[in-house]
Amino acid sequence: MKYHEMEAREVEETLNTDRHEGMSEEDAKKRLKQFGYNELEEGEKQSALLLFFSQFKDFMTLVLLAATLISGLLGEYIDAIAIIAIVVINGFLGFFQERKAEKSLSALKELSSPQVIALRDGEWKKISSKEVVVGDLLKFTSGDRIGADVRLIECNNLEIEESALTGESLPVQKSVSPVKTDDPGIGDMENMGFMGTMVTRGNGIGIVIGTGMKTAMGQIADLIQNAESMTTPLQRRLEQLGKILIVVALLLTVLVVAIGVLQGQELYMMFLAGVSLAVAAIPEGLPAIVTVALSLGVQRMIKQKAIVRKLPAVETLGCASVICSDKTGTLTQNKMTVTHIWSGGTEWTVDGIGYTPNGEFYKREKKIEPKSDKALQQMLMFGMLCNNAEIKQKESEYIIDGDPTEGALLVAGMKAGYNRSSLLHQFQITEEFPFDSTRKMMSIVVNDQTGRRFIVTKGAPDVLANISDTILWNGKRQIMSKEMSANINEAINDLASQALRTIAIGYKEVSAGAGKFDEKEAEKNLTFIGLQGMIDPPRTEVKSAVKECKEAGIKTIMITGDHVVTAQAIAKQLGILTKSSKVMDGRTLSTLGTEELEEVVEDVSVFARVSPEHKLKIVKALQNRGHIVAMTGDGINDAPAIKAADIGIAMGITGTDVAKEASSLILLDDNFATIKSAIKEGRNIYENIRKFVRYLLASNVGEILVMLFAMIMALPLPLVPIQILWVNLVTDGLPAMALGLDRPEENVMKRSPRNPKEGIFSRGLGWKVVSRGFLIGIVTLLAFIFSYQGNPEQLAYAQTVAFATLVLAQLIHVFDCRSEKSVFARNPFGNKYLVGAVISSLLLMLAVIYWEPVQPIFHTLPIKASDWLMIIGLSSVPTFLLGFTYLARKTK
Ligand code: ATP
Repeated sequence: MKYHEMEAREVEETLNTDRHEGMSEEDAKKRLKQFGYNELEEGEKQSALLLFFSQFKDFMTLVLLAATLISGLLGEYIDAIAIIAIVVINGFLGFFQERKAEKSLSALKELSSPQVIALRDGEWKKISSKEVVVGDLLKFTSGDRIGADVRLIECNNLEIEESALTGESLPVQKSVSPVKTDDPGIGDMENMGFMGTMVTRGNGIGIVIGTGMKTAMGQIADLIQNAESMTTPLQRRLEQLGKILIVVALLLTVLVVAIGVLQGQELYMMFLAGVSLAVAAIPEGLPAIVTVALSLGVQRMIKQKAIVRKLPAVETLGCASVICSDKTGTLTQNKMTVTHIWSGGTEWTVDGIGYTPNGEFYKREKKIEPKSDKALQQMLMFGMLCNNAEIKQKESEYIIDGDPTEGALLVAGMKAGYNRSSLLHQFQITEEFPFDSTRKMMSIVVNDQTGRRFIVTKGAPDVLANISDTILWNGKRQIMSKEMSANINEAINDLASQALRTIAIGYKEVSAGAGKFDEKEAEKNLTFIGLQGMIDPPRTEVKSAVKECKEAGIKTIMITGDHVVTAQAIAKQLGILTKSSKVMDGRTLSTLGTEELEEVVEDVSVFARVSPEHKLKIVKALQNRGHIVAMTGDGINDAPAIKAADIGIAMGITGTDVAKEASSLILLDDNFATIKSAIKEGRNIYENIRKFVRYLLASNVGEILVMLFAMIMALPLPLVPIQILWVNLVTDGLPAMALGLDRPEENVMKRSPRNPKEGIFSRGLGWKVVSRGFLIGIVTLLAFIFSYQGNPEQLAYAQTVAFATLVLAQLIHVFDCRSEKSVFARNPFGNKYLVGAVISSLLLMLAVIYWEPVQPIFHTLPIKASDWLMIIGLSSVPTFLLGFTYLARKTK
């Protein structure tokens, strides 16, 4: 028999599981071992060997290898072997870089992989969806993706959208009763939930009947391999630049070779030198270094609790000019405690800390016995009943499982001596209309022991006041007069102005014989009972983060479903709302057209009592004003805005799967300050990429120019091929990687966001590359000329001097690249990786020059001590000449 035809109990028995205890961890482990992970198989990955060989498929490298082969055949064994060795080492470096990039990207994927809530050993636990096994019980709610194929055993207005499997975009209403139709299609199995489909409404529990490739999704998995682009705009731009550089480098190389040959150089030698120059000048390693820099930056972000889901976001982060942030949990701690209760004109206060259920009740500052007051009693009991949270005790600490707002209501009731499970003996809940941010309320239908039936609703007070026509006043139900309505408003404003989050509670009695309710029918004509006000303190680090963002030219906007006055009070405390900015409520926002909103949107820093749907409108308006918008969200209805924002941010703790999938960044700690840290890192990564692009290209310009000028001046080759290749491998490679690890400059959060349209060479970078590269070429040539002095016997020595000057000039220049301003603007030893890279490059250079066994390979001779003065002097010029002009300008 199929699972959909069985009763829930039979499914439990067949799969040897228990609806109250779930699987034991031990059994789950065994099943995991036996049946494997709950994941869809991915396509074949490129093998390591293939990746290694792909390092040599580049055209110029192939030409170089061919040329080397020819030189080997001509008897130049040492040259041939040395060149091949360098090419192979280069290949290894490229291979390791790409492997590292690939690994960190898949580690990222793993980190943002979905989690589910499963019942294990009697406790609901968050586990990785990969570890789900057949027989597990899973709990899901609106916004979740179902982690495996399940047979539903509990549904509360559960609706699931199954278009990925059926193509039908309308959600299906689910139920738990057996389906007896013959051979039903997926769309007909109303008591089943399928892996990868999305809960759009309500909540439910199901028993896992299939995992991994043994799910309905697994059967069509081949069709849905997602191929999301992981390259960033900068990477694409650099790729294009790389293509242009290849052409330019090739043309210049041809020019160098042609002039050399015309000037009477040996054809074979010129050919090999030309090809080596082309290999050195083409920045073939650039894309891999960029990927490594990006992924290392991404790893630093993970340490700061931000997970980048889409690599392009790293760049966009640096351009963000507005952050639209949720309030609850992101700007505040989401640790709620009820401190005030109001009903029918009377106010009580409650003391106690956090979720510990110890505290006293006071009326006009006098301690009272809460159970002696009927209205208070009803407020507390209904607050506990219309509730899905749980308070658990772990050692001496009380923790909450569920929505903190509901947790606070539970704790308030517990302080008065109530207990939810004993209340559930008195009242039986027959139906639930779950909370959603658009309705801003939640309701239950309950039967009491005498058979009477009630609807209990809790939600935003202004919303509840609107749907109530009576009110409980002095223990009696009375028609809601204008005066009473004004009283309620006054009480709401009074609590909200103390930055308290407010929840109202209402109820109505309905006929005991009535059938199932529709939500609209249930949530009207209520009797308003009262309000509970709870504190939710701001996160301590947010105020300074908001300030830092402001200094960085980034505006913070609070967007919240909470009451206008509460939002206003907290925004003021955090420095988000200032004298010059405004508050707008959801109702006003609804009345504004897109263009009208665009006109005022930049003046508003708090949007309150908004629905998730409003967020999209705000994002669009800000974008139309030219902003790069970061937008946070957690619920299913936030997804469109998260998707539309330039940087969509989802909450790691409270976020639904749908919000996470739409996002490009996930905050592991739901904290606003983490967004600021990610932006800072995003800015830094971009600057680091600029740094090494600048270094590599200036080095290449220098290498090409020294050869070109020498040929024009009818001089012999200033560098032999193997020396050029060595510079490319050692001097260019290591320091460039180290620049990718540089720390941010001090002013990184003191300047305005970058314009996303700016090219890589903007802000003077192009000029820096050309001017420094030109000078590096010139000083190398001068060093060569001074040592050569037209004497062919001096040639090898002069080439060694030119080699040393080129290497040293580049190694000094690398410190200049650390700052946009000048080499004097930062402590040169601030980046320990760079210092290490430079020292090892220097040592390797000295080895090549002074170590006898390698001298014949590199065609070098030991340099005389007296010549070092000239080499050091000349190689300092490119960096210090321009550095001093900066100092001179600064002192003026
Ligand atoms: P933010 O959008 O910043 O997260 P928020 O949590 O206040 O703020 P919503 O979750 O949309 O936004 O809540 C809106 C209002 O609905 C709250 O101000 C509160 O009055 C009410 N509310 C919140 N949670 C519940 C709940 N679980 N049950 C009933 N009403 C709730």
